[in-house]
Order: sequence, then C-alpha cells, then structure tokens
Amino acid sequence: MKFKKLSKILKSKSVILGSHKLRKEKFCGSCKLCVKICEEMSIGAIIMKNIGVFNKADIVNDPSRQCIGCMMCVDVCPKNIIKNIDNAGEREIWNKKFKLARCEECGEYYAAEEYIRYVYNRAGIIPDKFICKKCKRKYSAKNTKKYVCKL
Ligand code: SF4
Ligand code: SF4
Repeated sequence: MKFKKLSKILKSKSVILGSHKLRKEKFCGSCKLCVKICEEMSIGAIIMKNIGVFNKADIVNDPSRQCIGCMMCVDVCPKNIIKNIDNAGEREIWNKKFKLARCEECGEYYAAEEYIRYVYNRAGIIPDKFICKKCKRKYSAKNTKKYVCKL
C-alpha cells in the first residue's frame, strides 16, 4: 500500500470494510488496560484474543465463574467500547447478568451485589450499612463535623 493511502486511512475517522463503513473508535486499541485492571483486582476474567486488525478484549473462561460486574474495565477503556446495560436493578456486562444493590440511604442502585460481596470479603469486614459513594461522602462529612465540634 502506498504511503499516502496508508496515512489517509490512519488519519480518517472511519474505515471501509466491504460494503460497511465503520467508525474507528469502535475498534479495540489493544492497550490491554481492561485486562490489566481486571488482573489487578485479582479476578482475571478477560484476556486479549484475535490479535490483529480486529484485536479485542474477550472473555477467556466462563464469565459466570469470574466476572463480578465491577465495571473497572468499562471505566478504563479509552475507546469506550466495553458496554454494559444497567436497567431496573440489573446490570448486563460480558453477557452476564448481575443484580444491583440499592443504597440503604438514598435507595439508588449503585453497584453489583457480587462486586460488593467480593470487596468486603477481601477486606475482611462487614459494614454497618451498604451505601453509595455519594451518601458515604455526606455521612463522613457529617461525622467529621461532629468530631471537629467536639474538639
Ligand atoms: S467487570 Fe468483569 S471483566 Fe470487567 S474488570 Fe470487572 S470483573 Fe473484570
Ligand atoms: S477493550 Fe478498551 S481497554 Fe481493552 S484493550 Fe481494547 S481499547 Fe484497551
């Protein structure tokens, strides 16, 4: 392929494949951030496969055994191609469904129950209340204020 043509393809926002025009951001960039973060969590549910133009992160084993629905891979993906669907108290990611937990303060769904169990089991603690990040911040701000007033 001529250099000029190659450079045009690299600069363009989409590529033509047969009769399809595909947006480049839909392609995995093979940065492996999703794989690394999942490994960092000591889960290792995904590996890279199909190395080549169509590189993508994919499930290596039965997702029901490994993925905990933590969403870390979704958050780190710079191409925003790992998708999840959160709907009516249920999360779907990597073809696996998770029940979402409700915050005991505000009632909002905030994380997959499996993920919450995993985190607290690893930390070896049982919290008094299961609450979302927003309420946790309010709760700690309130307690800090009380503490400061006592001084
Ligand atoms: S959602 Fe699943 S695959 Fe993604 S980082 Fe969490 S455990 Fe790993
Ligand atoms: S899916 Fe996203 S995070 Fe994972 S390797 Fe591809 S571009 Fe990187």
